[in-house]
Amino acid sequence: MILILTQDAKPESPEFRQLIGHLANLPDISTRIHTERGAEQVLTEIYLIGNTQALDVEDMKSLPCVESVVRVSEEYRVLGRHRDDHRPSHFDYNGVRFGQDNLNVFAGLCAVDNPEHVEMMMRALRDNGQVCTRMGAYKPRTSPYSFQGHGKSCLPYVFDLAGKYGIRVIAMEITHESHMDEILEALKKTGSPAGVMIQIGTRNTQNFELLKIVGRQQRFPVLLKRGFGITLDESLNAAEYLASEGNRKVIFGLRGMKTNMGDPHRNFVDFSHVPVVKRLTRMPVCIDPSHSVGTRAKGPEGILDVMHVTAQGVVAGANMILVDFHPAPPKALVDGPQALTLNELPYFLEDVRIAREAFEKRCALGERFRKTT
Ligand code: PEP
Ligand code: MN
Repeated sequence: MILILTQDAKPESPEFRQLIGHLANLPDISTRIHTERGAEQVLTEIYLIGNTQALDVEDMKSLPCVESVVRVSEEYRVLGRHRDDHRPSHFDYNGVRFGQDNLNVFAGLCAVDNPEHVEMMMRALRDNGQVCTRMGAYKPRTSPYSFQGHGKSCLPYVFDLAGKYGIRVIAMEITHESHMDEILEALKKTGSPAGVMIQIGTRNTQNFELLKIVGRQQRFPVLLKRGFGITLDESLNAAEYLASEGNRKVIFGLRGMKTNMGDPHRNFVDFSHVPVVKRLTRMPVCIDPSHSVGTRAKGPEGILDVMHVTAQGVVAGANMILVDFHPAPPKALVDGPQALTLNELPYFLEDVRIAREAFEKRCALGERFRKTT
């Protein structure tokens, strides 16, 4: 059960203390307080854990400082959608809104290679009205002999160039907790010209200790990729690890499943799960068409499969697109064969706009249909 407190509830107030005192006397119930600091308000929620079946929702609602009460089903307690649950399904970070009701594009480099390519990418994004990007500094590679990413050495120029071109949020995978410290250090040194969204890759979806550490900080939002060989439920529980530790600014990323049933694509595209994740949880849903498809193959009409699956995900309501671009794909150190080129960026963005418009029209059509039946 979750008690959502009134906006003005202050921990030092007598009402708040009275509430905590009351909860402490409930048999077999423990409490966990979660505080979320937004730009304008502080949201406080109290999670009641244990035998909450015996508690009456109306009784709990009448307690001091309590605005509303949500009885949670067992699954995904913090991030899930529960009955009569009106908690928000969006958050703001560094001036960008991430929600189940909007769409952000994160076009960028799979792996940072040199400052020239980073600058070309950032400039193209700025020229096309984009404020988000992806920049891989720490690359989990199948072979230990493959390029592992430039790591902390590239962070200062990545952040400086982001600032120069008005990029507000950079999605960046980390594979170890020390990488988060390196990112913090580089942000401090460069004066924090951009925000970072910590990405947990598909190979680490169930790295529970990493999830707990990333979940304990609230400075950076997190993009959690679905595990490529586990069930959706297992991946959603991984997201819940982040939230249960305190960070609920979580975006869930679909990136295809590892099975040769998806051949000739690199992974079996799973974007049919966009509405499923939005229904089961309050997380915005990201699609990664590049790592799903893995090639620049085209349909007979000349449209890249990467663009087709992007449109399919967006038409189904995706909220974020993580997509590989590169100024010179043959020179890319990682995943060049799936990268789009900079001159394809305006074309890609227009295609996304068409798909988003189709999604909005489909929502309006559904609404009209439901009103007449
Ligand atoms: C990536 O986005 O660069 C990446 C490695 O993705 P995934 O974890 O989905 O393989
Ligand atoms: Mn990649």
